[in-house]
Amino acid sequence: MSDKSQIPWIVFADRAEVRAAPVQDSDSVRTVSHGGMVFGTQLEIHPSTNEEWLKLDPEWYGGGGMYVSRSTVHRVHPSNQVEGDLPIGSEKVDRWWGLPLDYEPSDLVYIPVKYALRGREDYQLRREVAEALAVMLDAAREDGIDIRVTSAYRSGPRQRTIYLRNISRNGPGQRASAPPGHSEHQLGTTVDLTDPEGRHSFSQAFDKTPQGKWLEKNANRFGFRRSYYPDNVEETGYISEPWHWRYHGKPEDSEKE
Ligand SMILES: [Zn+2]
Repeated sequence: MSDKSQIPWIVFADRAEVRAAPVQDSDSVRTVSHGGMVFGTQLEIHPSTNEEWLKLDPEWYGGGGMYVSRSTVHRVHPSNQVEGDLPIGSEKVDRWWGLPLDYEPSDLVYIPVKYALRGREDYQLRREVAEALAVMLDAAREDGIDIRVTSAYRSGPRQRTIYLRNISRNGPGQRASAPPGHSEHQLGTTVDLTDPEGRHSFSQAFDKTPQGKWLEKNANRFGFRRSYYPDNVEETGYISEPWHWRYHGKPEDSEKE
């Protein structure tokens, strides 16, 4: 892979302010407009606001000690710069590395409404994932457990809207929603799951429900893994999410990794 410092962070917000200190009320040294690039490899977290700041590389910005709020920029992993669809299972999407905002799998299909919370018709997943999900949810139903989908594929622009709304409500230190390009939902391989009434949607208590317990015990053999646990919050940058499950391929395929 190429030198990390050569890979730009791209401004997805309307603009990004370059500041002399990692705090919002410090002076703006310059403004980078939407679509512009900045370079840096180090993230610092402000202890009182929990906001992440990208320390800009002095090589690019002379003098050093310049910062841009992480809530305004995203970065694309070189392996995600592809023509066509990413192979399922090893896509690199986390807090550090993301997808181009216009990446959209070509094989998205609508999932049957019987698996959707409140019969919604607009949930999409990649074809292989939708098939694996149906097999898993049918198996759960045979065990008497009804599990529903409450979120599936989300486009880059849609994630941008959600993220910007979330930080305007809860501040740039929030960790509940991923920056655009950095959401596993954009892969078309990831679902948020809940009970048939949606009482435990996006709830930390979901893993105490029959649905959550069934998933913890059985999902892996259908190729689905929970992404965020309490013990990987630091590493992933996201809160623990017992409802968020990503498909990594059929288990016999992934064992070869
Ligand atoms: Zn999710």
